[in-house]
Amino acid sequence: MALSPDDIRIFNKGEKRELVIIEIAKELGAVMRKHLDESTRTCINCIHFNEPTEQCRLFKARPPARIIALGCDEYQDQIPF
Ligand code: SF4
Repeated sequence: MALSPDDIRIFNKGEKRELVIIEIAKELGAVMRKHLDESTRTCINCIHFNEPTEQCRLFKARPPARIIALGCDEYQDQIPF
């Protein structure tokens, strides 16, 4: 939903403008973090994936392409050390 120029003028003069911006930023931040986290869960960066054999150690099989790209509920981040 787009704001009209009048909506924007009212918003910019409002006493709670700063608070509204802070609340919107918090909400956007949480949504973006969730989507970024979900969109970067792939077998390639999962601790259970054996890249040389392309097998999932947990399920002892090669995951289907869709799972390789999107990960699954058992996804675990690789320990970065
Ligand atoms: S995301 Fe799921 S299927 Fe892929 S390697 Fe990890 S546990 Fe296995």
